[in-house]
Amino acid sequence: MQGRVLIIAGSDSGGGAGIQADIKAVTALGGHAATALAALTAQNTLGVHGVMPVPVPFLRQQMAVVLDDIGADALKTGMLATAEIIDAVADEISARAPGCALVVDPVMVAKGGHRLLEESATAALIRRLLPLATVLTPNLPEAEVLLGRAIDGENGLEAAGRALLDLGPRAVLMKGGHLPGDTVTDVLVTADGVTRWPAPRLHTRATHGTGCTLASAVACGLAQGLDLVAAVERARAYVRLAMRTAPGLGHGHGPLNHAC
Ligand code: PLP
Repeated sequence: MQGRVLIIAGSDSGGGAGIQADIKAVTALGGHAATALAALTAQNTLGVHGVMPVPVPFLRQQMAVVLDDIGADALKTGMLATAEIIDAVADEISARAPGCALVVDPVMVAKGGHRLLEESATAALIRRLLPLATVLTPNLPEAEVLLGRAIDGENGLEAAGRALLDLGPRAVLMKGGHLPGDTVTDVLVTADGVTRWPAPRLHTRATHGTGCTLASAVACGLAQGLDLVAAVERARAYVRLAMRTAPGLGHGHGPLNHAC
């Protein structure tokens, strides 16, 4: 099964993160990537230089025409920029794709520090999107913002995942890359239990777009009929290979290799 994934996210003009990474990951894994652009960024490997949210009616139109014709086996959200956009996305999903598998990557701040989600929009993300999510994929800083408290160490990751489950997603994939140490552990928490993936840290500057890529690869797996654990396993292997073979472009945090 090819798997149709509708990605609702922001554009990275540098081709490292955002919708560009999403399309490349889904395509490389054999899926069909459709897109609804929520925001544009002027961006390179050194950082985000400008952000332009897409007018809400046009974002709605992109989602509507894709869902009404092509349909989707899974949805993925990334950078959504504003509370108004989050409300519109939640409305469209509820109206046109209720019950569809949904991967929510709660994108908030780029590695360089530029905000990709207005601070005031966190409440909308929690209230409108988390309850619709099949799986939420926060990194450590994002989980801390969503929970409103600090997370301490690897045991803290699992506890945070459980606390985030209470906000409505059916599963939480806590990404451990921001914790110190030579081993990076991602932790999947569901009502049925916990799965851990410890792995040696990859020492590379090519980390730009890893979160977008992972979330889209998971969405693609779900769209293709994999169960969540299998989808995460394949997605992690894909991201790690794409990091290890990254082309070394630009002067900052470079893009991954999606032709691996
Ligand atoms: N730009 C866009 C459009 C994104 O969606 C994201 C992350 O999700 C980023 C930039 C930030 O990527 P990173 O934090 O990997 O630099």
